[in-house]
Amino acid sequence: MRKMIAVTFLSIACFGVSECNQNEKVLRAEFAAMGSIPVNISGYRTRQEVFHQAVEAYRLDLQNMDSLLSVFKKNSLLNQAARGHLVQINQEIENLLLQAIRVSRISSGAFDPTVLPVIELWRQAKKRNRPPEPNELRAAVSKVGIAHIKFQKNAGKTYLSLDPGTSLDLGGIAKGYFADLGAMHLRKAGIQRGLVEIGGDLVMYDDSDSPQPFQIGIRHPRQKGAFLGKLVIDSGAVVTSGDYERFLQIGTKRYNHIIDPRTGRPTEHVCAVTLTAPTGVLADALATAIMVLGENDGMKLVRQLDGIDAMIVTESFGGRLKIIMSPNMKTRFHRQ
Ligand code: AMP
Ligand code: MG
Repeated sequence: MRKMIAVTFLSIACFGVSECNQNEKVLRAEFAAMGSIPVNISGYRTRQEVFHQAVEAYRLDLQNMDSLLSVFKKNSLLNQAARGHLVQINQEIENLLLQAIRVSRISSGAFDPTVLPVIELWRQAKKRNRPPEPNELRAAVSKVGIAHIKFQKNAGKTYLSLDPGTSLDLGGIAKGYFADLGAMHLRKAGIQRGLVEIGGDLVMYDDSDSPQPFQIGIRHPRQKGAFLGKLVIDSGAVVTSGDYERFLQIGTKRYNHIIDPRTGRPTEHVCAVTLTAPTGVLADALATAIMVLGENDGMKLVRQLDGIDAMIVTESFGGRLKIIMSPNMKTRFHRQ
């Protein structure tokens, strides 16, 4: 007999419901990272000490990587590079930057890890309660572009530098990357089935002989507490980007926190993108890119990529929602 165990995560975009055997034990842990984002970890068919050691190793690894990468930490590597320093980076950070650059290329610049000067301009605009002027937007956009990121190799080491005025923000890829890191730690500890959720972005796997699918609730972007439906997935990542949790209010207008790097303007029309991919890092970057690309160009990109599926929710001016899904998403998504 099988039993549904509901796991309600403190997530931004989704909650997860995991299906498992009645006798199966699930261990859970939670800690805050990247400021105050909750990280939820579930390990199945494992022992307390194995699970807690894996969680602790993960927590320390995440904390260390976050202090190197965060834009909110003055002396992070990214902030040192933004101040004009040549900074040595390890293989892991180089790989992460290369993944961000790759998604920037395949999305024709819709995802861009150098969009920070524009984001800062909108933050200032919020403070003075007036949107940026076109000339201010043009100046900020001129600092954006992956061509401003430079790598140098010397004696087996890799160094990062940025052109003057350029700065890096990995906020659009970090949650997925850190969720992958968590799954890696659980697997390393020999835990056969695991799930890591960070701010609504999930990475899960089941390496057992009789893997059970995961069922993930997809939140309704316009009705708090409601769900569009549930997604059945064997393993990999489910990531959602949306306009409903984080936004800027300037005057009476709400602006999304995701920026079109080509215009410097916040995205409109797409209210949520849920994307599945083999890894969290790819799913996270692509979900942000598709918020920018919109339904037509977004689905075109999904069709070009192997192992990627998407659900795009748009809102018309009358407030009507439309859900567009790639063929594989349709077969795995069950409407509420
Ligand atoms: P996500 O929630 O994954 O869609 O990421 C949103 C975050 O990514 C924002 O808060 C910014 O820090 C950053 N960001 C905004 N627009 C972009 C963009 N076009 N490309 C890359 N990162 C972005
Ligand atoms: Mg993202």
